[in-house]
Amino acid sequence: MTHPETQAIHSGQSVDPATRAVTPNIVLSSTFERATDGSYPAGYLYSRYGNPNRNTVEAKLSDMEGGADSAAFASGLAASMAILQSLQSGDHVLAPDDLYFGVRVQLTQLYARWGLQVSFVDMSDLSAVRQALQANTRLVWLETPSNPLLKISDIAAVAELAHGVGALCAVDNTWATPLLQKPLALGADLAVHSTTKYLGGHSDLLGGMVVTRQADDTWARIRQFQKDGGAVPSPFDCWLLGRSIATLPQRLAAHCANAQQLVNWLVEHPAIEAVHYPSLPSHAGHEIAQRQMSDFGGMLSIRLRGGEAMARAVANRVQVFTQATSLGGVESLIEHRASVEGPASQTPRNLLRISVGLENVADLIADLAQALDRSV
Ligand SMILES: *Cc1c(COP(=O)(O)O)cnc(C)c1O
Repeated sequence: MTHPETQAIHSGQSVDPATRAVTPNIVLSSTFERATDGSYPAGYLYSRYGNPNRNTVEAKLSDMEGGADSAAFASGLAASMAILQSLQSGDHVLAPDDLYFGVRVQLTQLYARWGLQVSFVDMSDLSAVRQALQANTRLVWLETPSNPLLKISDIAAVAELAHGVGALCAVDNTWATPLLQKPLALGADLAVHSTTKYLGGHSDLLGGMVVTRQADDTWARIRQFQKDGGAVPSPFDCWLLGRSIATLPQRLAAHCANAQQLVNWLVEHPAIEAVHYPSLPSHAGHEIAQRQMSDFGGMLSIRLRGGEAMARAVANRVQVFTQATSLGGVESLIEHRASVEGPASQTPRNLLRISVGLENVADLIADLAQALDRSV
């Protein structure tokens, strides 16, 4: 089972010996019976410590990312919390200047009070990264492609710089998924996911995952935070996630194809000031993306010549796209990102972020055409 399409379907699950059910049963029981000798014959004690549906999705992610182990969480932000929790007061974290907003809030608001130091740098500028590393840097956080500008950073090069000062490198792989990009094979120590997005794929669950390259001491602390911190996903959410991962390879290929066709049309449109998508030769990270990704993903952003007013008018006029946050579902979403992120946002005011769904791309193009071809 070395191919991702096969792993996505078969890893971590098999026909149930008791019922011969082909698809996994949902095990809702919070507790599991002990044997007379005090042991736990099936390996389960209490559902916060482990549950069959959770084990299934953890095994799928370990195999697909090529990692030693995985831990599932109740959300993507609970997953990043667990990684930050493995650090100590006084440690320094180096993070991207356009880091996903929720992780930025964790670093600057939640963990600053616990003595974690943080600085932000343009991760696509390796000399800036080198200069920003400190003797007490213990974690370098990467997110590539980044949100919402789709900046690309060189995972192998940044991981090497991190290791040079004894820091770990964690990569938020939510946008690329293990199908398009393999951070652990490129030298990163941890891959992190909001499984709410492409892995869940249908905008109907919340989840997070951390995958490790090595089952080392850091991993033991992350695992402990999963079990004793308690932010675990429900069996039903894990079951939904496992069902969705089975079709991830086919969904993602269609997301990428639709996004590329939409980009080809958008770059020619006179109302568009810029299209941010890493397949474009004009994109600053194009060469690295070509090297470290197998395709360019279903996310893009556009900047409008008509400024914020035009951006918000377009988001209000679309009819096939839905104006909503989040990404990676079957339906196309469009979002004025700066106003979602709030006053501290660094996102350009004329930017719309687009999650390209699985509708027929001709309908998506026609919808954007009617929204763009009128002035404010
Ligand atoms: C959505 C998202 C998160 C946070 O995940 P939740 O499941 O919403 O907690 C983290 N990183 C990226 C890149 C995301 O898109």
